[in-house]
Formats: sequence, structure tokens, C-alpha cells
Amino acid sequence: MGKLALHWQIIIGMVLGGIFGYIMTQIGGENFTADWIKPIGKIFINLLKLIAIPLIVASLIKGISDLQDISKFKTIGLRTILLYIMSTVIAITIGLLVVNIVNPGSSISPELMAEISGTYGEKASVKISSAGSAANRGPLQFLVDMVPDNFFKAASSNGSMLQVIFFVIFFGISLLLIKPEQSRPVKAFFDGLNEVVLKMVDLIMLMAPIAVFALIASLITEISNPEIFVALGKYALTVVAGLVIMVAIYLIIIKVRIGYGPVFFLSKFSPAQLLAFSTSSSAATLPVTMERVEEHLGVDQEVSSFVLPVGATVNMDGTSLYQAVAAVFICQVTGFELGLGDQLTIILTATLASIGSAAVPGAGMIMLVIVLEALGLPAESLAIGIALIFAVDRPLDMCRTVINVTGDATVSMLVAKSVGKISEPTPKNWDDHYGK
Ligand code: ASP
Repeated sequence: MGKLALHWQIIIGMVLGGIFGYIMTQIGGENFTADWIKPIGKIFINLLKLIAIPLIVASLIKGISDLQDISKFKTIGLRTILLYIMSTVIAITIGLLVVNIVNPGSSISPELMAEISGTYGEKASVKISSAGSAANRGPLQFLVDMVPDNFFKAASSNGSMLQVIFFVIFFGISLLLIKPEQSRPVKAFFDGLNEVVLKMVDLIMLMAPIAVFALIASLITEISNPEIFVALGKYALTVVAGLVIMVAIYLIIIKVRIGYGPVFFLSKFSPAQLLAFSTSSSAATLPVTMERVEEHLGVDQEVSSFVLPVGATVNMDGTSLYQAVAAVFICQVTGFELGLGDQLTIILTATLASIGSAAVPGAGMIMLVIVLEALGLPAESLAIGIALIFAVDRPLDMCRTVINVTGDATVSMLVAKSVGKISEPTPKNWDDHYGK
């Protein structure tokens, strides 16, 4: 695979993984795949997660300490939050438009609904109870959650990414405020650390084509009931159509505001998108998203080191769009009428729910429960609805995660552009020291 661009290598890995997985389901090789193939994918995801926290720490400290003055940080911060909220609201609005036009709920007969929700009822109730604990929280709890009481505890869990970001920003700003002769060695250390961690990303990416092969192959062998995909096809296609529209909007914005054409942008950023698709986790993809945006799209680290880790946790355009479609779809099939006010409730709650969703597989579905509860959907309809969409959640999760990372990258470019921090990309060839 010597000269082939990385994204092609990954695509080939995915296609071969799909074919291999299919063959395994035909010859009864599911256990073989689980024992011998799946672990390769798992190791890869573990490696990516392993470097997520060191990468955030090193690059955010470097990013902030490179800033000449703190007021710039305030501008970057405010614009980031504003653009994240705007892109989320746009995504939800698109979701609502598409689902109201297509009306996928009409394709589900009561018998089919009973059958599917019977099969997945138990799994759905796990999701619903996880949502219960997330919903019973005070209005300021999210702020409390952001401030860790112990750095090491926060840094030892990828789920506490916002806490780590809080500490690092605090640390970075303090570093800017001390005398240069005192800050110099600290800054030099983190600059060096940053390079080391980025090199680790490069090394891990050497494994990407094989790892996605393993991830896709094991996913295919785990599909238990392919007929459901056909039954829920109209719903799934509605979500996908919304996501495709969202991509088109990003591409137009990127062309108009940054000047990168779609082919250029996709050829540079697609390795991150393909990994998002294969792993269903924006958190696991974060190291690659950062590497791609900085080295291949020319965003200055001062911007990307803040915008991207925050985005991975709070900005999920694909997830919020999916939540809007799924919420309306469930209301349609369970015969729960939605007025205009309810659609506005969806915009508000789905925005908050996508902020609250963890950047891991399946998180969006847990938060969907909160959206449905806010609409006042009765408990039993809620259980049926979640069970109904459960079977197709994983493939949709893969697709929405692609949009989640693309949204983060788009916002990082827009913010960078607005503060003059985007320049000609200078890729350090990711495998330049390792021969062909
Ligand atoms: N898997 C998504 C992500 O990590 C979250 C979700 O929609 O479930 O971005």
C-alpha cells in the first residue's frame, strides 16, 4: 500500500473488512472473527483513546502559551461557542424539515412495531434508565461538572475531557501571566511533549487500514437481524438524507469562507471522517481530527487545540440532527401529535442533549430519551419507540459521528479564519520516517 493516499488505504480496509465479515457470516466464522479479528480493532481504539488526554494537555498548553495576549483567547472562545450553537440549531432544523417532509413513521405497521420492539425491549430499557440519571440534575450542574476537584482523577477518565480542558486552560493562562524566564522551561517541555504525542498519532495511524478492516468485519458479523434494516429503511434513509444535506452545507461554507473546494477538503480530512465512521466515537477520533485540521488544513494550533477538544465533547451536529429525526419518527409511529411548540421544544432539548452526549458509541440514543421525555411522550410509547429504532442505531451512529467531527473541523476553520490563524497547510508527512 506504499504510495496510496491514507484515505484510500482506509477505504480499501473498510471494503475488504465488509466483504470478509459477510463471508464469515455465511460460513459460520462469527466466533473466529470475535476471537481473532475484533481485538485488532479494539487495540486501535484503545491506542487512540490512550493518547487523547496527553494530546489535549500538550497541545492546549502549547496553543494557549503561543498566544501573545489573553484577549485573543476570549475572542476565540466566544466565537467557538457561538458557532457551535448555531451549527447545532441548523442541524436540528434540517432534521425536523426532512422528517416532516418524508414522514417515515407512515411506513411502520402496528404489527411490525410490536414485533421489533418486542425483540429489543430489554436493551432499550437499559438506555432509558441511563437517561434517567442524566435528566435528574440541577440547572447549573453542568458547570459544577466542568470543574474537577482532582486533576489526576479527571485525567484518568476520557469521559472527563471537559474537566481536563478546564484545568489546562487555567494552567495555560497562568503560564502566560508569569515572568518569561520562569515560563520558558515549562513551555519548552510542553512544546516537546506536543511533538511527541503528534508523532504517536502518526504511528498509530500506520495501523489504521488494518484496524478499520477489523472494526468493520466484526461489526458485520454482529448484525443479528438484517431484515430489520429493510423495515426501518425509510427512517434510516431520512436520517442519512439529513446528514448528507448537513455535509453539503459544510462544504458550501468551507468553499465560500475558507476557499477550500470540496475535493481538496475531503481529500485532506477524510481519514478522520473514515475513522469516525469505523469507530462511532468522536473522542477516539479526536487525535486524528486534530492532526488533520492542523497539518493538512492549515489551522493554527492556537485555535485547533481549543476548538477541537471542546467540539468533540459539546458539538455534535450529526447527533442532534439524528435526535430530531428520531424523536419525530417515534412520535409519528406511536401516534403522538406534535405541534409547532413541540418542534421548538425539540430544537431546544436536542441542542442541550447533543451537548450533554458523551462522544462515545450510542450516547446520542441515551440523550434522545431526554428529548422524548421533554415532549411529554408517555413512558410506554417511549419504551416502544426506543426499542424500535435500536436495531439500526449503530449504522446511524457511524454516520452521525462523521458529521460530528466534520462540524468540529468546519467550526475550527471558521474561527481560525476570523482571527487570522489559518494558513497554507504544511503536512509533516505522517509516515515520513518509516520508509514506504
Ligand atoms: N457516537 C457519537 C459520537 O461519538 C455520539 C452519538 O451520537 O451517539 O460522536
